[in-house]
Amino acid sequence: MTMNNQGRPTTAGISGATLPPTLSGDHGLDHEEKLIFELGRDGMCGVDVPEAPAHTARLGGIERRRKIGLPGLSEPEVVRHYVRLSRNNYAIDTGLYPLGSCTMKHNPRLNEKMARLPGFSDLHPLQPQQTVQGALQLIQELMHWLMELTGMPAVAMSPKAGAHGELCGMLAIKAAIAARAEHRPRVLVPESAHGTNPATAAFAGFRVDQIPATGDGHVNIEALRAKLDTDVAAIMLTNPNTCGLFERRILEVAEAVHQVGAFFYCDGANFNAIAGRVRPGDLGVDAMHINLHKTFSTPHGGGGPGAGPVVLSKALAPFAPLPLLVSDAHGLRLIEDRSALSGDSDPFGRMCAFHGQMGMFVRALSYMLSHGADGIRQASEDAVLSANYVLSSLKDVMTAPFGEGPCMHEALFDDSFLNDTGVTTLDFAKAMIDEGYHPMTMYFPLVVHGAMLIEPTESESKESLDRFVAVLRGLAEEAKAGRLERFAGAPHYAPRQRLDETAAARKPVLRWTETKIAEAAE
Ligand SMILES: *Cc1c(COP(=O)(O)O)cnc(C)c1O
Repeated sequence: MTMNNQGRPTTAGISGATLPPTLSGDHGLDHEEKLIFELGRDGMCGVDVPEAPAHTARLGGIERRRKIGLPGLSEPEVVRHYVRLSRNNYAIDTGLYPLGSCTMKHNPRLNEKMARLPGFSDLHPLQPQQTVQGALQLIQELMHWLMELTGMPAVAMSPKAGAHGELCGMLAIKAAIAARAEHRPRVLVPESAHGTNPATAAFAGFRVDQIPATGDGHVNIEALRAKLDTDVAAIMLTNPNTCGLFERRILEVAEAVHQVGAFFYCDGANFNAIAGRVRPGDLGVDAMHINLHKTFSTPHGGGGPGAGPVVLSKALAPFAPLPLLVSDAHGLRLIEDRSALSGDSDPFGRMCAFHGQMGMFVRALSYMLSHGADGIRQASEDAVLSANYVLSSLKDVMTAPFGEGPCMHEALFDDSFLNDTGVTTLDFAKAMIDEGYHPMTMYFPLVVHGAMLIEPTESESKESLDRFVAVLRGLAEEAKAGRLERFAGAPHYAPRQRLDETAAARKPVLRWTETKIAEAAE
């Protein structure tokens, strides 16, 4: 790539842009890594495969006629390429990850070991069901835990992430409304909702109607009541909400919503703040997704994998999507189509080809069994304690819009402490990278101007929190003292400096071709 030497850190005293073309662009052990397509050579291969015997029409005439352009590299070259790339990454295994609303926490290695047991990892989703009774039993046990922890009578296991779970819950609500032959086109979404909530409601065909927040970051119940009518299908409420606060008037919300015959969808992605302490079923919730990849650990950096089972109330349970797991005299069985249904089951359809993310199921159940109910409660309490520790350790130097009382699992700050310093919120976040930390969530939730949302999680020690707090205090003090060098153009020590995020979003180069790369570099 011709762009390689640009955007390299210049603070080491050598400007990458002025390097003679024969030098590598590497800074010591910090490699300037090319794309694997640029590294590969025609004819190179990591393994020796014997020449295939000549068959005529071996594939019935559907053999490839052209090369597909895979890069050719030796095994050590492939290994080095990916290991070098991995060293450019920030990871939960290299440091605290303060990303609010995403719960990046330690993944106990025990879960990984369990997920790699051949009886789970080598399954094929189309295997005969008699041969996978152990896996079905694991799913059943996980369902039991999820229903117990939430106090809900049913759970759909197939959704593959939080947003997919939201869609599942809203489609169940839509089916329930259709079964009552009602017309309810509107869904209420509080201002403090996670962005996926309005997106899901719109995708499911509803009209989104926003409810304002109160000055202290909670849903405005009076505004909610004013908008409730018999054309409302549901409210989608995030609890704890994205300001890191527990919606204290949630029972009133449930009651008001049910009074007009609407459903209560709760975004339970932040269940890790309340698991073992509060059962959503006791709060009048009708549907709630649980992000197994947040609450019950499991790695999910980089966009996957995840799992978003949805617990359902008695009113919504009949509409749960296929497949349904049942147990009968022959053992456990997945019902895959309507003709095999009994009772009042009336699935709205199905969410995906198979029955969910088996690897995530194994990890989540492993997390649950190794913690026990008491341990899960303790994890929630520790997550809340950590966030409050960060909030109270920083609120004298950073500004906390709702810092009067305690928070739940995340501590929310805004950027007014940077007013008149010449440092922007983005500068501040980027300067954290030079100090060895991934930035917190920026500019979200939208209800707070210049929001900075920090979720330390339960898996950080007090020492690790203290170090993080000290770094943020140091940066805040530098900004206020007018020492701006470290902020301007930060990060200085990362493999890339400020990226053009607008161009990345508007003109993404998603697939390698020689011409596209050349164009992008111009
Ligand atoms: C993470 C999150 C989601 C979306 O979950 P995905 O698994 O990323 O689809 C929805 N709501 C809240 C509050 C979240 O934190």
